Amino acid sequence: MTADRRLSVCLTFDFDALSPWAFGMAGDNVAALSRGEFGAVAVPRILALLERHELPATFFIPGHTAVAYPELVRSIRDAGHEIGHHGWVHEPLSALDPARERELFQRGLDALEEAAGVRPVGYRAPNVDVSANTVEILVEFGMLYDASFSATDFEPYYLRIGDRWPSDEAYVFGATVDLVGIPFSWGLSDFQYFEFVPGVTVRQDTASAVYEIWHGEFEWAYANAPGGVFDLTMHPQAIGRGHRLAMLERLIESMKAEDGVAFERVREFAGRWRDEHPLEEWLAGRPMQARRG
Ligand code: ZN
Repeated sequence: MTADRRLSVCLTFDFDALSPWAFGMAGDNVAALSRGEFGAVAVPRILALLERHELPATFFIPGHTAVAYPELVRSIRDAGHEIGHHGWVHEPLSALDPARERELFQRGLDALEEAAGVRPVGYRAPNVDVSANTVEILVEFGMLYDASFSATDFEPYYLRIGDRWPSDEAYVFGATVDLVGIPFSWGLSDFQYFEFVPGVTVRQDTASAVYEIWHGEFEWAYANAPGGVFDLTMHPQAIGRGHRLAMLERLIESMKAEDGVAFERVREFAGRWRDEHPLEEWLAGRPMQARRG
């Protein structure tokens, strides 16, 4: 790596543990619930991999996980990784009214505070399922960034509030606000490739197939998205199996071999990007995205 930063790589891990299973993915099947426990087995393996390569990462953690595994949350914090907010019990936000959404957001914050004394500045919505009120709530709570939206691939941008989508009229773009959007992609997420969940996912891809997709996206971003961010979204309960971690290590090694690749916590990348692209200046250069709403 050189001092010149060409592409930032953010390794992110959504440490869901039992939360999505408890919220409904397991139904009443106790064996299905136990799949979430494997996330707790995998976290130390991931921390060891990151330590071996001296890499910082970001862990998005639901409050439910922080209460269940406070020692692991503290070990993530003590290893120097960022802890981001990931809901209370992996609840899909689009099903919530604003008051309930605020209440659960606060509950998630409180749990992380109690478990590890951390106050996140970043957020990823559970299942990247976001309501029309979420961005406004994130701004109210003073968050720096969200990593749930997909309007770009590798270029950060500012998010909006007040969008409307009447099916019989034109799309209504809302007002751009001071919340950095770190692009998320299902293609750069592990769970749906690797984990079979009856009625939810159908695949169990080989690690080499996933490597091909992830590495191909990385190569394109490195060549075509200078100053951008490669946000890789993983789940300890999916990536934590031995051969998949070996694939991740191979990917990390190939990324480290390129000049100008910087591994960063999302908060560092987002904070610097916001400093370098203040909202008004950013909008001035983008008449299409100028303040509407
Ligand atoms: Zn999650």
